[in-house]
Amino acid sequence: MRFLSFLFVTIVSAGIIFLQGCEAPLQTPAESSGFEDITHYDQIISFCRDAAGKSDLLEMEVFGQSAEGRDLVVMKASNDQAGLPEEEKIRILMFAQQHGNEQSSKEGSLLLIREIANGEFDHWFKDIELYIVPQVNPDGGEENRRANAQGFDLNRDHVVQEAPETRALHSLFRQWMPHVTIDVHEYFPYRDAWAEFGGYKQFDVQVGVTTNINIDHQLQQYSLTETLPWIEQHLAAEGYTFHNYLVGPPPSEGITRHSTIDINDGRQSFGILNTMSFIYEGINGRDRYLDQLEHRSMGQLEAMIAMMDFMQINRREVVVMVNDSREQLKHGNAKGTVAIQTDYVRSGEPLFMPLKSFSTGADTVVQVDNYHPLVEPVVVTERPLGYLIPGEDHQLIEWLSLHDILTEEQLPGEVNVYAYQLAESGPEKGETPPKTQIHIDQEMNNYVYVSSAQLHGSFLSLTLEPHSDIALGRHQNFAYLLEGVTHYPVYRVESAE
Ligand SMILES: [Zn+2]
Repeated sequence: MRFLSFLFVTIVSAGIIFLQGCEAPLQTPAESSGFEDITHYDQIISFCRDAAGKSDLLEMEVFGQSAEGRDLVVMKASNDQAGLPEEEKIRILMFAQQHGNEQSSKEGSLLLIREIANGEFDHWFKDIELYIVPQVNPDGGEENRRANAQGFDLNRDHVVQEAPETRALHSLFRQWMPHVTIDVHEYFPYRDAWAEFGGYKQFDVQVGVTTNINIDHQLQQYSLTETLPWIEQHLAAEGYTFHNYLVGPPPSEGITRHSTIDINDGRQSFGILNTMSFIYEGINGRDRYLDQLEHRSMGQLEAMIAMMDFMQINRREVVVMVNDSREQLKHGNAKGTVAIQTDYVRSGEPLFMPLKSFSTGADTVVQVDNYHPLVEPVVVTERPLGYLIPGEDHQLIEWLSLHDILTEEQLPGEVNVYAYQLAESGPEKGETPPKTQIHIDQEMNNYVYVSSAQLHGSFLSLTLEPHSDIALGRHQNFAYLLEGVTHYPVYRVESAE
């Protein structure tokens, strides 16, 4: 008996030694389950730890906590030993599952981490530093729920930043200042309205570029004409379908356009700082959970690989474009104007939208005449020198510091200061409220000066002009800026010349 148990122990230890010597390739937890289950929060943490242990290229860091206190983790992939000095590399931030019920965004990111850990893409890291946040919203992810634990839609919280998850993501961004961001989601094509229409979109991955027209035009055009076709080609070669991200109801019921022009989402909030930003929208399952999870996750993975390949090949061009356009923002001479109200407009060309028939599953193409792919300015404002913020408005001051917006104690020389006069109903669409000149001496009497000549220059006009589409005062937390006041309390500072 004693002999037998000794033998048993020996065999077990030999087995362990054998497995270690074999360097079994890492698998994601969903993958190990045959995609019968998602990767749950605890498994993400242990998987990331294993991946970091397996590869010298990978490091795991905790960069914040969710509303319910779960750690938010980022995997950093880089190679300090090879290739370019750090400052010449292209930095890419990929973040997934802001919406907890979009599981393949996280699973695709974990598969990418698995590929890196298994040494499949070592060559990327002579040129690239990559940060992957596999799950921005762990509390929602565990419940397969869109919102975070406080009920916030994180992808509408990037301006006000009420949620700890959004705040943490933005401080991560500022710490590394990536040139490129990729915000990974899923779209749900199976709504009743589409069933009634007869067909639904069945693109494995849709990718959207920035649409706010205050973002550097060259960055947007380059993404559209260079990056997207590359991703499409890669996906096609791997057997996945692609489209430039389309938003809207069935074509008979309203306009079809590209993604929102507002800067409160993940893509545009980084885009407005002249980051080359993208949104990925993989196809969700019919059950919004496990249906087709493997195919969905592999599609996301392939789209991520395509982006990484593209960015490695075009590293030099992209880094220069992003750095130059950010310098222009910092010097306040990016553009003389900011379009604070904009609209989606037609290009004149119809869209031929490939759809899948609900009844037969056959491929079909629908001509969409109500296609509004372009964005045009409705109200434009001259970029001011800056703004004066009342020093006693602690909420506003805290908001500035949340965004790392630079403030100054002194006005920049000879200036004119104006206050907007507001009607009780607030600013109307298409209108610019009248303004009156205000006397402020150099002491500024408890005002804080915020210059437009900083990375947040366009962001400031978009959020602080009272008649902007995305004015801070339109958010309930800041409604006091617009309601019940005759003068808008944030003043415009213009050159006296
Ligand atoms: Zn989403």
